[in-house]
Amino acid sequence: MTTGYVFHPEYLWHDTGTSAGLLPADPRAGVQPAVHVENPEAKRRVHELIHASGLLGELTVIEPRRATVEELQRVHTDAYIQHVKAQSDLRGGGGDAGDGFSPVGHGSYDIARLAAGGLIELVTAAAQGDITNGYALVRPPGHHATASQGMGFCLFNSIAVAARHAQTELGLARVAVVDWDAHHGNGTQAIFYDDPSVLTISLHQAGCFPPDSGWIHENGTGNGVGYALNVPLPPGSGHAAYLNTMTDVVLPALYCFSPDLILLANGFDAGVFDPLARQMLTAASYREMTRLLVGVADQLCHGRLIAAHEGGYSPFYTPYCALAFLEELAGTATHVTDPFAAVVAGYAAEPLTPRQRNVIYEASELLSRIQMTVPSA
Ligand SMILES: [Zn+2]
Repeated sequence: MTTGYVFHPEYLWHDTGTSAGLLPADPRAGVQPAVHVENPEAKRRVHELIHASGLLGELTVIEPRRATVEELQRVHTDAYIQHVKAQSDLRGGGGDAGDGFSPVGHGSYDIARLAAGGLIELVTAAAQGDITNGYALVRPPGHHATASQGMGFCLFNSIAVAARHAQTELGLARVAVVDWDAHHGNGTQAIFYDDPSVLTISLHQAGCFPPDSGWIHENGTGNGVGYALNVPLPPGSGHAAYLNTMTDVVLPALYCFSPDLILLANGFDAGVFDPLARQMLTAASYREMTRLLVGVADQLCHGRLIAAHEGGYSPFYTPYCALAFLEELAGTATHVTDPFAAVVAGYAAEPLTPRQRNVIYEASELLSRIQMTVPSA
């Protein structure tokens, strides 16, 4: 088994500016300039830990390239691509991809293309048998971006671009997207909402971001009915809720769908220390969730599980969640263990609540709509 790894220094050069966390600075309204919450630090530290732990030496490093305009056009409108480019061409920062919360720094157009292209290269390597699975540690993130608008720090939807590349160029007809970022994978869902060839499954904090999005009744449209699944877990959900969601919803859905490729929108912002959500996962949670997903990928699609980094905003804890994920993906272990394990053990021990159980049960009732023989889109 070989695990691919994509990283590039330019990913850290995507400049999100001086927002006050997530709010654009506005001195006239008393919003003080600070540092944007989606800044390079957590990602830099993830890469450093992967290197310092020795794990990097066990991975197959794959160089990213920039996605072409034609590759982006499989997902995004021409007008939107041109909008991001124009915002990126502005000097001095201040550009935005559409919702006022998605900064486009000078040159970010090219960096976002490098993120999408990194994922394309990983998927291609998996399809060719050069790697079994892989992880793209990219910025900017992508899963909130729709065909025509950037949202929630996301410029181009790298996962969606990679899914279309897999279908169009690599003969991987059925693609499943599992999104365990703490926020709803609304952009990916919207892009494939009427398409039964791409199953989207999002586990997220209910009512978090986007605020009114990702409810259970959002189940696809037209031929795509049944091929969008959402598990909106209540705030405070942790290890038990997410593991039960994996065993009762995600895994059965994947067995029903029988994908040729599994893509993972790999957000670590459901981690217990994250500032942008109120979920309680630990590094051990991510390890166990990954173990389950690797197992199903091995059984269904020759191990082809390709992950794109999405959220994860705790600079000090995200690296340990990411390391646990990547160790499990690569089927190995390093000498580094979660130094916060004793601190977070109490969170992880929190049992399933009736409300969490109800949400998981309601989502599982929709599984019968997924067919192994997918009608053509
Ligand atoms: Zn997120």
